[in-house]
Amino acid sequence: MAEKARELILALAEGKSLSTAEYLRIITEADDQDRKLARNLANRARIAQFGEGIYIRGLVEFTNVCKNDCLYCGIRKSNQEVVRYRLTQSQILECLEQGYAAGFRTLVLQGGEDGFFTDDRMCEIVTAIKQCHPDVAVTLSLGERSYDSYRRLRKAGADRYLLRHETATEWHYAKLHPPAQRLETRLECLNHLKALGYQVGCGMMVGSPFQTPECLAADLSFIQEFKPQMVGLGPFIPHHATPFAKEPAGSVETTLLLLALVRLMLPSVLLPATTALATLHPQGRLLGILSGANVIMPNLSPVSQRDNYTLYDNKANTGAEAAEGLAALSRDLETIHCHIVIGRGDAPNQLISN
Ligand code: SAH
Repeated sequence: MAEKARELILALAEGKSLSTAEYLRIITEADDQDRKLARNLANRARIAQFGEGIYIRGLVEFTNVCKNDCLYCGIRKSNQEVVRYRLTQSQILECLEQGYAAGFRTLVLQGGEDGFFTDDRMCEIVTAIKQCHPDVAVTLSLGERSYDSYRRLRKAGADRYLLRHETATEWHYAKLHPPAQRLETRLECLNHLKALGYQVGCGMMVGSPFQTPECLAADLSFIQEFKPQMVGLGPFIPHHATPFAKEPAGSVETTLLLLALVRLMLPSVLLPATTALATLHPQGRLLGILSGANVIMPNLSPVSQRDNYTLYDNKANTGAEAAEGLAALSRDLETIHCHIVIGRGDAPNQLISN
């Protein structure tokens, strides 16, 4: 056993903050036993915070039109193969009704950066959702927008915002994005969202091209400092029509270690076991939960459009990945003594009333 790595994992589990160098030691030195220790401690931390309940979020991928050209992403502007679509407001509300009936009390609206969805249009959608179902939390994942835009959306009723920082290392950010997209802007957006009172989620891919262990350590340090309420963290998976088509996928094992470290660092964080993890491993969701994840985001998008929202190849979107597969998901969760919670699922230290 790597003595130092084990010591650091135990310190983290006791609530100590670690330095970037210490996170790096865990990432580079932890052996199988240490990784198992981290996962088990994180699983225990999850249970201490949330019991056996797993939160579900209904994910509506409402547009795959995007003005950005992130090198890793299948719906990047330059990908000519994509059949582009936009859901109408009434289609989004239909997804809401289906989800509500199934027990979802959080709707996540995710999309490319699509100029069609102006502040006026987005605010109208958020307002309509809240009018139909005031008890539903609205999470937005629309990329970078102005402070004023975030302010208006918040005022319209949006509760949470997911904006992965993607990587906290400047040179790495520049390898993953065209020059027009800057880490500085991304971080500014995250700060704006926090200042506006959103529950905010940042996060990164594990194993993205050019990523080094130092990058991951910097990501953990950033998360420790930023203290988000949510963290989105999944493996990179190549998409055939992007510049990274030939790059290898991220490692399931490392993703599980990172999930565990995030849970130990921020015990009450909302941490999804991502679709990307489920895509790489048949038991990905359950392994994620056993490593500290406490949220699952089944797909609530219209079945006819799901194949068009392909961020990476072979993206899982049926069975327990899909909203209509909740019964299957329930059965899966039972095998690890967990169950789905019907409710908004706010982080325990910040039950927000609105
Ligand atoms: N346009 C929104 C939503 C982006 S898609 C935004 O900018 O926030 C949501 C997340 O999917 C991204 O933040 C990215 O981390 C992840 N993603 C994109 N392409 C991926 C790939 N090839 N493999 C794994 N995850 C990917």
